Amino acid sequence: CRHPSVVRGGTGLPPVDRLLQFLVDSSADSEEDVQCANCDRCCTKAELDTMYFCNTCGQPLCAPCREETHRARMFTRHEIVSLSKRTKDIHKKCPLHEEPYIMFSTEKKSMLCINCFRDMQGESRAHCIDIETAYMQGCQRLDQAVMAVKELQTSTREAIVLLKAMIEEVRNSASEEEAAINSLFSRMQEQLSERKKTLLKAVQSQHEEKEKAFKEQLAHLASLLPTLQVHLVTCSAFLSSANKAEFLDLGYQLMERLRRIVKLPHRLRPAQTSKINSEYRAEFARCLEPLLMLSPRRSVVGSAGGIGPGITGTNM
Ligand SMILES: [Zn+2]
Ligand SMILES: [Zn+2]
Ligand SMILES: [Zn+2]
Ligand SMILES: [Zn+2]
Repeated sequence: CRHPSVVRGGTGLPPVDRLLQFLVDSSADSEEDVQCANCDRCCTKAELDTMYFCNTCGQPLCAPCREETHRARMFTRHEIVSLSKRTKDIHKKCPLHEEPYIMFSTEKKSMLCINCFRDMQGESRAHCIDIETAYMQGCQRLDQAVMAVKELQTSTREAIVLLKAMIEEVRNSASEEEAAINSLFSRMQEQLSERKKTLLKAVQSQHEEKEKAFKEQLAHLASLLPTLQVHLVTCSAFLSSANKAEFLDLGYQLMERLRRIVKLPHRLRPAQTSKINSEYRAEFARCLEPLLMLSPRRSVVGSAGGIGPGITGTNM
């Protein structure tokens, strides 16, 4: 973080995160020029990793000077660490007792000086280990925590890959569905319009057939009326002109003629109704059945979904 002023809050700001504070301070430190205490060589940022710090001397040292200055036997017990890990003064001593830290309490997660340790209850002392062991243990714990985070990172990446794949899949699925809808719709349209043509043709042929039959019947009846009129006129003329002998001679012949014409088979009632029936609902449903696969009667209708009996009879 290159904006320490934001984090270094005074009063009024949220409590300072000590870890964040440490990271900010470390980065601030690394921006300072670090000079080797022996050769005064300024080191650049890139070289910081190769710099050392002697905690005993409290001095930074470059790699060559580290060898040179601490070669003598009296320096063998000096504690030299890489510069980035140098022990800060504040961590060296217990602020309460002014004694160097020597122990770590795994219970309180804090470092202890000899006096802190003496002040502790016997039970709590069991949780105290030396700094070095505590550091190793802490490193292992941190490793485990880091591993857990890395596992989460891995599974997060896998989940992201999966989700991206699913976004692609859902897109494909949608376009497949759209294509299927369009295709089925156009096939339904084709089938329906074909069936519509057939139905209209059937209606027309039924119409023509019935009209022809009605017209024939009408022509017959129209020609019957004058015939009846002729008979009635004949009868009336006969009645007015014939005497008794003539009546008895010819009257029964006339009556026989009248009886015959009444008994002739006259089609007075229409032989069929005027109702046109194409069964269009059933026909439309039948032609959609194979497309929509909702055909409980499919075996009856046949695979081709042929024209039903409602039409075939009158379609010729
Ligand atoms: Zn040096
Ligand atoms: Zn030293
Ligand atoms: Zn020294
Ligand atoms: Zn102490």
